[in-house]
Amino acid sequence: MFEKILIANRGEIALRIQRACREMGIKTVVVHSEADREAKYVKLADESVCIGPAPSIKSYLHVPAIISAAEVTDSQAIHPGYGFLSENADFADRVEQSGFVFIGPRGDTIRQMGDKVAAKDAMIAAGVPCVPGSDGALPDDPAQIVKIAKKIGFPVIIKAAGGGGGRGMRVVHTEAALINSVNMTRTEAAAAFGNPTVYMEKFLEHPRHIEIQVLADEYGNAIYLGERDCSMQRRHQKIIEEAPAPGITDAQRKKIGEACAAACRRIGYRGAGTFEFLFENGEFYFIEMNTRVQVEHPVTEMITGIDIVQEQIRIAAGEKLRYTQDDVVLRGHAMECRINAEDPFTFVPSPGKIESYHPAGGPGIRIDSHIYQGYTVPPHYDSMVGKLISYGDTRDQAMARMRVALSEMAITGIKTNIPLHQELFMDGAFQKGGTTIHYLEERLSQLKKGDV
Ligand code: ADP
Repeated sequence: MFEKILIANRGEIALRIQRACREMGIKTVVVHSEADREAKYVKLADESVCIGPAPSIKSYLHVPAIISAAEVTDSQAIHPGYGFLSENADFADRVEQSGFVFIGPRGDTIRQMGDKVAAKDAMIAAGVPCVPGSDGALPDDPAQIVKIAKKIGFPVIIKAAGGGGGRGMRVVHTEAALINSVNMTRTEAAAAFGNPTVYMEKFLEHPRHIEIQVLADEYGNAIYLGERDCSMQRRHQKIIEEAPAPGITDAQRKKIGEACAAACRRIGYRGAGTFEFLFENGEFYFIEMNTRVQVEHPVTEMITGIDIVQEQIRIAAGEKLRYTQDDVVLRGHAMECRINAEDPFTFVPSPGKIESYHPAGGPGIRIDSHIYQGYTVPPHYDSMVGKLISYGDTRDQAMARMRVALSEMAITGIKTNIPLHQELFMDGAFQKGGTTIHYLEERLSQLKKGDV
């Protein structure tokens, strides 16, 4: 096992990784920007290195500074967290070439899954169900493109092979608008991702977002840890997640889970990963794979009792998976609210000093957050300041506990989206479960109009 790990991230996930390391007796090195000097996990770390000024391009994305920090501190491995460099294949390669272990998949795997056309090809070959679409990248010939779209059937969605973060996509409803939309998406993709390649998929109109968590080791062992429902999204950003997904049967879970584990074995996947699917009319359709730990991993931890971050570390250290599929038993229900420093209804970011902070507590409540009273939320990064997680024997109990926790949680000095979560946990359709990825935006526009 490693003696010392460098954490190349910030915020709640830096603290989460640090907690995993400390529990395992591993020393931690935290790199931070000038804006994060006062962070809790920086004070708790065995060592810390300031790697640059506040803008992430000069700190959390500055590869040479991070590698130097690993060298001067004699770290053995680097955990990238999520966001920042976590899905940057060149970074993973650089880490390994510099003699450190990258806590994640091989650079080549990240590269393959980061190209959505290549990822989809690999999934089709592995027998994972995908959204019907073009056979790889779209050709140049407009007549061919029209032919493909007609075969798939309108509406279709044009997606950039190099896209991410909900960008580089365009829905097309009619043949008349098709070629223009393809050309516009190509131009945007070339500018934003340095890759003009686009492909086409059937646009699913009422899907849910359901994803499968996997763990795989170096030795061809792979397991799935059930699914999460992340359909509550605004502008493709998840805000509430839960596990298991309401209404998914054991047979459905087993079938899709086994397909994902088999795909991991086939592509030689290593580490923790997530297969994201759209789910409509009882069918799963693969959209992408995330080759890192995800924000919403705690809901899976709560229902499986498996510490996903610790397993990432064990796998990176070359250990065999400690669990077989039979060891994975799902118990109870977990929900997660992302707590963002923003106006709950206009979504305008609200950085600044936290004047007072009263976290929630009680049975089945977990808070993953780096904030404290007197902490200043810097304006330079993502507005998420923590995650409130509830667990119960049943979904109803997890929801009831979340409602109590939301009412107890008090953060003053900045605005947070807690009032929005309170609203949503009283919402009839959400309480029932199984809402689609469009539900939250529809609900928000009703709230804005004052209809409900
Ligand atoms: P990104 O990497 O940018 O997150 P994804 O491929 O995961 O891109 O898609 C992001 C979101 O776009 C999905 O969660 C879904 O809301 C929407 N989307 C993507 N593909 C389709 C599709 N074929 N039909 C309907 N919606 C889609």
